Amino acid sequence: MRAQRSRRTATVAIVGTIALAGVGLFAPAQATADRQQTSPPPKQPTATGYGGAVATVDPDATAAGLRVLRRGGTAVDAAVAAAAALGVSEPFSSGIGGGGFFVYYDAKSGAVSTLDGRESAPQSATERLFLDENGAPLPFAEARVSGLSVGTPGTLATWDEALDRWGRFDLARNLRPAIELAEDGFVVDQTFRSQVEANAAIFADFPATAELYLPGGAPPAVGSVLPNPDLADTYRQIARHGIDVFYEGPIADEIAATVQDPPVRDGATRNVRPGDLTTEDLAGYEVIERDPTRVEYRGLQVYGMAPPSSGGSTVGEALNILENADLGAMDEAQALHHYLEATALAFADRNRYVGDPDVVDVPLEELLSQDFADERFCLLDPDAAAPKPVAPGVPDGDYGDGCATAADPAAVADEGSTTHLTTADRWGNVVAYTLTIEQTGGSGITVPGRGFLLNNELTDFNFAPTQGTAPDPNLPGSNKRPRSSMAPTIVLDGGGDPLLAVGSPGGATIIGTVLQTLVNRIDLGMDLPEAVAAPRLFQPNGVNTSTEPAIADGPLGAILRDEYGHSLAETAEIGAATGIEFLGRHRLQAVAEPVRRGGGSAGVVFPQRWPR
Ligand code: GLU
Repeated sequence: MRAQRSRRTATVAIVGTIALAGVGLFAPAQATADRQQTSPPPKQPTATGYGGAVATVDPDATAAGLRVLRRGGTAVDAAVAAAAALGVSEPFSSGIGGGGFFVYYDAKSGAVSTLDGRESAPQSATERLFLDENGAPLPFAEARVSGLSVGTPGTLATWDEALDRWGRFDLARNLRPAIELAEDGFVVDQTFRSQVEANAAIFADFPATAELYLPGGAPPAVGSVLPNPDLADTYRQIARHGIDVFYEGPIADEIAATVQDPPVRDGATRNVRPGDLTTEDLAGYEVIERDPTRVEYRGLQVYGMAPPSSGGSTVGEALNILENADLGAMDEAQALHHYLEATALAFADRNRYVGDPDVVDVPLEELLSQDFADERFCLLDPDAAAPKPVAPGVPDGDYGDGCATAADPAAVADEGSTTHLTTADRWGNVVAYTLTIEQTGGSGITVPGRGFLLNNELTDFNFAPTQGTAPDPNLPGSNKRPRSSMAPTIVLDGGGDPLLAVGSPGGATIIGTVLQTLVNRIDLGMDLPEAVAAPRLFQPNGVNTSTEPAIADGPLGAILRDEYGHSLAETAEIGAATGIEFLGRHRLQAVAEPVRRGGGSAGVVFPQRWPR
């Protein structure tokens, strides 16, 4: 229920009241950014130390977060500074044209709070949003690159709201590192270039996008410096006038105009359908504070993001299912088999029951109840993969009478691109923040002269019903927020102190990446760097299990295939996680990917040698 609503914020409630002593104060040591560099700043996937930590996919973003921490900012200031920098150097994964989910642990109160900054559909949207003139679902590619897919962006409102509640600095101050980065430019790496190459045909059809990311008509060279003066100017205007310039001022007018009449190049053959996002939609946008999801797992408290994200409910349900099995006592193949089967069961329920809770009735309490999970566990064969898809359960509060299941639907999985960052400060506050513009490059449409891409988040709705005769909770609707898989997660120990925080991009695979990382860390004896680096596999209640080569091509893959009956479909890589672990005695370990997506970047305010 919403307890309080301000102009751009609605509050659903806050839970958690565990007291925690603050962490010691440290003197700042300001690093000077080298703006003349011609090679990317050095990045390390793991950093251990004190006084605050930042883990992102990008060294410039991590540097921005650390700079703010060193100057006395909180984890929330650092998260906003890092996210704003990602808008410059990781513009295809996130930015002010998109949305996200912000999970915050407050050291003083011991409470975990969440902000829902998800994009919302225009007021005029109906279930038919992605149906063509004949009532047939649009091809995904056509829906994606269109005004139809653009939801009202929530990212900037999220930053503003988070800072208002938990920041020490204002938005203007936290935007400074990103403004400098946008003015001076960042060094293009191979990941960035590859992302442009993969989207070059789309970007080329929108002059405002091509101008930014196809300089001279081609993807920028690795090692070249790419500025974004338009975005620097946009950020500066926001810093000067506040976020109303975006939601109610000239930028709102331009966003609406861009969506309603996408600025396609002359001669383009692409059919770019207009959308109906209006200035009223932008002016009416609200960040919503929601209760976090919470489950207990092996004596720990796992907090996540509630609907409209399915991240918290699906990770939580799967953990509750796995609570019934002693994974730590199993061999690796058997433990992974359990992880895959639990994920499939939880995905069946996600697909059937989870959507925007302000529009559809989501039985969240039941989905997260241990009794429901115990009933689901009775379908998990410890020796063999169930034929997929498995049917959803019946979360009706009446459990234990056999393995109750509802009518059987097919699974739906989505892929995309997003970014996750994790921060902690000297006081012990923690942020897990996942933000996105959906696909890599979003809709492909840049607001002319403003330097940011618009999302295609509304393609996270199901275009047509997926649940047979049962209602589909994730069809488009007026002001509705599409179901997400983003799963920013904070784990507290039994005493209520933070143990770790983690999250990842990857569309539906996010749920598997977060879940597998937790299982690796909590059950399988890995430390967080190992848990993040370990090869991944993912089972979204589909016929095939996406599997990274290190498993698919090795003995583990052979056992999962031959002895358990899993159908493994090899995929180059899954996810790009970041996280922080609290090692005790105020010691922090920031962790990013060592290899996936070219490797991420971890940093701490006061480093010490990583003991290896
Ligand atoms: N749009 C997706 C979601 O909200 C995220 C896309 C991605 O992570 O790549 O679940």
